[in-house]
This record gives sequence, C-alpha cells and structure tokens, in this order.
Amino acid sequence: MKRIQLIVLGWICLSLATFTGQAQGKREYVIVVHGGAGAMGGLEQNAELSAQYYAALDSALDQGAAVLDRGGKGEEAVLAVLRYCESNPLFNAGVGATCTAEGTFELDASIMRGQDLSAGAVAGLQHVKHPIDAAYRVMTQSEHVMMAGEGAERFAREQGLEMVDDNLYFATPKTMKWVEQLKQESKKNGTVGCVVLDKEGNLTAGTSTGGMFKKKWGRIGDSPVIGAGTYADNASCAVSCTGHGEYFIRHAVAYNLCARYKYLNEPVEKAADYIIHQELNSEAGNGGLIAVDKSGNIAMPFNSGGMFRGYLYKERSTGAVRRQVGIGKSLRH
Ligand code: ASP
Repeated sequence: MKRIQLIVLGWICLSLATFTGQAQGKREYVIVVHGGAGAMGGLEQNAELSAQYYAALDSALDQGAAVLDRGGKGEEAVLAVLRYCESNPLFNAGVGATCTAEGTFELDASIMRGQDLSAGAVAGLQHVKHPIDAAYRVMTQSEHVMMAGEGAERFAREQGLEMVDDNLYFATPKTMKWVEQLKQESKKNGTVGCVVLDKEGNLTAGTSTGGMFKKKWGRIGDSPVIGAGTYADNASCAVSCTGHGEYFIRHAVAYNLCARYKYLNEPVEKAADYIIHQELNSEAGNGGLIAVDKSGNIAMPFNSGGMFRGYLYKERSTGAVRRQVGIGKSLRH
C-alpha cells in the first residue's frame, strides 16, 4: 500500500512539474518579427541600407518588449510592433506598401489570438492608416472574421480609426516611381509579421501587407487569410508568413505548421523547415515564416534569398534579454 502511495505521489509530482514547465517555460516572453522575404539583391553588401533595416527590426522588437515589460498582453505587443512597421517606409505594409497594376495601394492585414482562436482580417483597404488596427477591431468589435473593400473601410470609419483621404498617403518616393512607370519589375517583398508568447502563456500572431507588386485589382494574398498567412493556437504555435501568397494559401501554411506540431508532435523548427523547404520549394513557392511555440521555441526558415527577421526573448531565471536580427543567412547581435 505504501509503495502504491509513493508511486501515485511521484506521478502527481511529475505531472505537476510538466504542467508548470509548459505554463512557465524558460522564457518569460518571446517576440519574433519579420519584414518580408525575397531575393534581397545583395542588400547585405549595401552597408548603409542594411543598417537601416537592422535598426528598424530592432526598433520593432523594442516596441513589443516595452508593452510586455509593462505587463501588457501579447496582442497589444503584436499591434505595437506592426503599427511601427506599417509606419516605416522600409516595409511593404502601410506607408511603403507595394502598388497594384493600376498604381493604387490595397492593404491587407490579420491578427489571431491563440487563447480562444478569435481572429480578425481585412483586405483591400485603401484609406485606413493602420490596417492591423482594423483587423483587430474586426476580431474584437464584430461578429465576423474577415471584411474586405468598402465594407471594411466603412466599419473602420465607424470604429473611429484614423483614415487617410488620399490613397497616395501610402506612397513613398520609391513606390511613386513604380506608380509612375509601372515598368520596374522589382518585386518588393516586405510584408510585416509578428508572433508573441506573452507572460501569461498566450500566443498571438499578426501580419500586414501591401501584397504582391503589380497585383490585379481585388487580388487578396495569404496575409489576411487565417490559416494561410496567420494562425495562433495556445495548444501549439503562433505563425506569420511572407512570400508568394498564392502558394501559402494552397498549402494552408500557418495552420499546416500548427497541425504538424500538434498531431505529429514535430518540434516547431522541424515542422517549419519541412513546409518551407519541402512542400513550398517543390512548387517554387518562394518565402518564409516566423513561428513561436507554446514553450517559447522559435523558427524562422525561408527558401528565398533572405528574410528580414529578428527575435527577442527574456529569460525567466536571469531576466536577461537575448535578441538577434538578420537579413540573409546569418543573424547578428
Ligand atoms: N504574402 C504576401 C502576399 O502574397 C506578400 C509578401 O509577403 O511579400 O500578398
């Protein structure tokens, strides 16, 4: 009898340790950001420009860390990071977004909360200053998951979000050149995304983009499609993708990763590598993703020339903050 009691006690202790280990992983919080994947065309050799990107990625991570350090939720951190990126002309989201074949700017964004699988997405916005805010309002203030075009703009206006009268607000000198000429086949890939594991163990994912250069009117990519460009589930991972959206939709990449993690018990890095390097590569589906799992492990694979990316996490035991950012293969800091 005594032996049985001991075994039961041992089992209870082990279960408790496992449970606490999961709920309170070795990282107090984790933030991962991407600023798009693409060919990069020797960007790393351009010291001045690459320094601007590194600095922007660092600032984006700082925005998220500031929110989490003052006790904010993961979804607030995702919003802060993506709002910053939408305001930074270096990235293909908000100001700096790439243009359609008609020289206009049509913006897409989405956000998902892993705690209750609630999600919000917007597509084809032309006058909402921060598309990620509109996606968040769809998630929190409507009974819907996805809204597009004029209806989405009307909803954003009703919600009191900041609007811009002129669609060219999103243009920069660089994108204006494309608008005027629409000849340059430069494929600007600078969609932005952020995934966060917060102090409560909640996962959030968000993505914002101008889409693909010279896209047809009304074209919607993977970024606002829940399950393709964005997904978060506290039982598995938070994921944000960037790349050739049509392929990411076909392969339901963001959900695919969570499903491999959940049902095949694959570590997040293995699942992410498989999808990006095997599934997508076999169809020339160019791009990458960022992911964090419920234990705080990170994956950031890409099959393109490079991907603007970075992570920042705080160690629970020491309070030390670790961070790295990268454009090409290597990471620095
Ligand atoms: N995935 C985005 C889209 O297809 C573009 C990108 O990430 O660069 O709209």
